[in-house]
Amino acid sequence: MPIAGIYGPDDFGNSVQGHPAAQARNRVSPAERARALPMPSLEWTPEVERATAHLYDRVKNVISPVEWPFMAPYIKAINELKKTRDAVILAHNYQTPEIFHCVADISGDSLQLAIEATTVKSGIIVQCGVHFMAETSKILNPHKTVLIPDSRAGCSLASSITGADVRLLRERFPGVPVVAYVNTSADVKAEVDICCTSSNAVQVVESLNAPTVIFLPDQYLAKYVASQTDVKIIAWKGACEVHERFTGDELRAYREADPTVQIIAHPECPPDVLAEADFTGSTAHMINWVRNKHPKRVVMITECSMADNVQAELPDVEMVRPCNLCPHMKRITLPKILDSLVYLREEVTVDPLIAGKARRSVERMINLRN
Ligand code: SF4
Repeated sequence: MPIAGIYGPDDFGNSVQGHPAAQARNRVSPAERARALPMPSLEWTPEVERATAHLYDRVKNVISPVEWPFMAPYIKAINELKKTRDAVILAHNYQTPEIFHCVADISGDSLQLAIEATTVKSGIIVQCGVHFMAETSKILNPHKTVLIPDSRAGCSLASSITGADVRLLRERFPGVPVVAYVNTSADVKAEVDICCTSSNAVQVVESLNAPTVIFLPDQYLAKYVASQTDVKIIAWKGACEVHERFTGDELRAYREADPTVQIIAHPECPPDVLAEADFTGSTAHMINWVRNKHPKRVVMITECSMADNVQAELPDVEMVRPCNLCPHMKRITLPKILDSLVYLREEVTVDPLIAGKARRSVERMINLRN
């Protein structure tokens, strides 16, 4: 059914930020120096080449032999330091292939990472993704150390709404349950009834057994959910700055150029884009679709690095890459991951009262699966 209404300011400005207290980079604080391990050698040597050859094999379709000698010393050092620190690396599907395929222990979409975060045994989690993902890991693992290699890695959706906005919505629509996409701050998660991801959004909305649901903050995901259910949806005006840039015209041009091409799109895209797609699904659903259908040629309408990661795994599928990069995800790099492990930088903290309330919303979503 059509969406019942969209609320929120018309212009969110340029305030897309991660953690506001992001520290000055390249400067080692006295506290970091006290807990630092020696910085490993980062030279490209025959030993590094031998030790990383099996990893290069995984990414050779997407990383050139010229680039590898610059990456391999970092990859070897990071993988060794993970053991020394008893750390685990969680990487989102939008991380670049050298991170996703060569240093990550667990990879996936927001839902997979949230679930895996609850099963991690290591004392330290390094989150290769954006700030709200690291906060979710901390919320689910209050007694572990959660690090993000660059806490400035924000998200236009998470920046579009605050906990105070949710309280105002509740005043305006008393008794209407509120669902928050996981792309929100801990402050927002603490104010809502349940969280969802793009993998389970429809299931979560319908699980509430309510005639009307407030769904925030992504207006496009809200419209997609509304098109899949009879529940009346009230939305918020947020948008993903990567997915909202795609247009229906762009997709029609791909199809005109090659009528046999398959086009798959993420539900954070506007409705005219989804109307042109052969399949709509979360990042995990898109990857599974390509694995199962094995198309000759496919356009993935989502963040660009995901196509690289799938290409590394499925070299015989031709990927057409409309290169929309998420500038926040791209703040995470091998040198910053190494610094994270050497200096235990930058630790993510969440106020315990907010974390406790936010945990209920995230766990309610995770438990729905069982
Ligand atoms: S791709 Fe979009 S939703 Fe994902 S982190 Fe970047 S801005 Fe946020």
